Amino acid sequence: MPELPEVETVRITLKKEILNEKILSIQILNKNLRYPIECNFSNKVVNQSIKKISRRGKYLILYLTKNIVILLHLGMTGYFRFCNDENFIKHDHIIFDFKEKKMIYNDVRKFGFIKVYKSENVNHSKHLVNLGLEPLDGKLNKNYLRKSINNSKQSIKAYLMNFKNIVGIGNIYSSEILFDSAIHPCKLSSAISNEEINRLIISIKKILRKAIKLGGTSIKDYKDPMGKIGYFKNQLKVYGRDNKPCVNCKKNVIIKKIIIQGRSTFFCEICQKF
Ligand SMILES: [Zn+2]
Repeated sequence: MPELPEVETVRITLKKEILNEKILSIQILNKNLRYPIECNFSNKVVNQSIKKISRRGKYLILYLTKNIVILLHLGMTGYFRFCNDENFIKHDHIIFDFKEKKMIYNDVRKFGFIKVYKSENVNHSKHLVNLGLEPLDGKLNKNYLRKSINNSKQSIKAYLMNFKNIVGIGNIYSSEILFDSAIHPCKLSSAISNEEINRLIISIKKILRKAIKLGGTSIKDYKDPMGKIGYFKNQLKVYGRDNKPCVNCKKNVIIKKIIIQGRSTFFCEICQKF
């Protein structure tokens, strides 16, 4: 499932490809995504230009000319690609026609969705209203994290993955962030020391910035809209490396895999302190 760096990579590509372009027509091949695409979707967006493309957590927001926004979520397997012909493939659901290109939304598992809102209402929608802080926002600092973490009864891994605390951090990046900050994933959030808070803030920003710079991480289905793979995969130090040696302590220690809240968690029990 794409996390913040992958969605941000998609945003950057969409900005290059379709900013200020006019949507000439829409073809809906299958309206049954996570939420059915509303009947008058096309009427609401056709003949409008895309004025701004932003991101909130793992949601993409396309601002159109007439006070209308398109809210998009890629779900588990959603992605965009661009082409000039009508060679559609299996699981293509929506085609946006622009003057010189088509933008196609493909989603094998159909957990993604596309909705339309008036721009003044989108932040109050059920999808955005409960979201926590953006991890790369200056507001996410030591003071905020100390207060927020003190109120949590979860493990630090579960805390990081809860979108009500911080948005966009899923299974891959929470494992990598905790390895980088040398904190055991099972440690209770309220037991995290001030020194660990400092390291955590640095690691969150460092890992996510680096992943965005490298175009995210390609695991299974994720591709950016130009079909490129994300190169952060080569930088993963613990995620998916169970039974392999730890790159940091280089002792005869192997990366362990455990399950926290139903999700695989990878860590080194020597480097990451309880
Ligand atoms: Zn280690």
